[in-house]
Amino acid sequence: MKILVTGGAGFIGSHIVDAYLADGHDVAVLDNLSTGLKENLNPAVTLFEVDLCNQTEVANVLHSFRPEVINHQAAHLSVSDSVIRPQFNAETNIIGFLNLMESAKDSVKRVIVASTGGALYGDTDRIPTEEVEPIDPISPYGISKRAMELYLHYYQVQYQIDWVSLRYANVYGPRQNPKGETGVIAVFLSAMGSGKVPTIFGDGTQTRDYVFVEDLVRAHVVALTAGVGAYNIGTGVETNVNEVYATLKEALSFNQAAQYSEARPGEQKRSALSYARAQHDLNWQPTTMLQDGIKKTVAWYQEKGKG
Ligand code: NAD
Repeated sequence: MKILVTGGAGFIGSHIVDAYLADGHDVAVLDNLSTGLKENLNPAVTLFEVDLCNQTEVANVLHSFRPEVINHQAAHLSVSDSVIRPQFNAETNIIGFLNLMESAKDSVKRVIVASTGGALYGDTDRIPTEEVEPIDPISPYGISKRAMELYLHYYQVQYQIDWVSLRYANVYGPRQNPKGETGVIAVFLSAMGSGKVPTIFGDGTQTRDYVFVEDLVRAHVVALTAGVGAYNIGTGVETNVNEVYATLKEALSFNQAAQYSEARPGEQKRSALSYARAQHDLNWQPTTMLQDGIKKTVAWYQEKGKG
């Protein structure tokens, strides 16, 4: 299959590229390298160093590579920055996405996109949260991800393009950029690896659902040929920040206690996603325990000299 992976030089996208290549697909990457790195890129892949916001260049990529499937990972993914710069967020996540779809609509058969669980469902008592829960995003980032799903429905009705939106929990694993805000594991690991004591905001009892990148990638492989609509990709397990810190301490043999500072305003208290729908339609379930995923991530950081 010919597959274009946008954001393929990033953390998650680069793992998807590796898996698709390993399965024998013909893969190309569209990435502006704003947060992605050339070193993440599989040498067997063609890179189109293009910004999604450049309509002409995006169209040129689509017309020259002519993919059957687009896997769309590229995004402006800072929730807090989306609050400061909602226009920039919409430029990348909505207009950039439409640049892609408008160039692809007559040739592409299937589109798989990266969406989010936490930022779509927000605070809820119904945990693990199912896809049928109300979607009330309170950040421009969450709104942009929902808008993408609504447009995909439009393209399906108008142009018969199949789509799968994977609503991720908190993804972690090798190659995650510690400069981002989503990756508490990468942020802590990077600090602890250089002997610094990480800061936990609030009392550390806020929970998230941590899914290992290799598990997520298996869902992207299945989604090439199965599924339609939106699927949560998480573990259904809530883990609090204090527990994450304790697991990292053990994996790194780090013996200092974390420091605590004031809770961040508006921070979600709890989050975990039900994966029942993905299990039913995609035969997908997570298989990596947090302790094991953290061990693999720590090993990668240490090998790369980043930890
Ligand atoms: P990442 O920053 O490592 O990857 C994003 C990639 O997109 C980078 O390679 C970047 O250079 C590229 N990119 C950004 N803007 C671009 C533009 N205008 N044009 C072309 N390329 C551009 O982040 P990631 O964690 O791998 O995230 C991948 C996707 O997963 C994103 O869509 C994100 O919203 C989604 N997501 C991630 C998480 C998580 O826990 N990491 C959770 C929910 C959703």
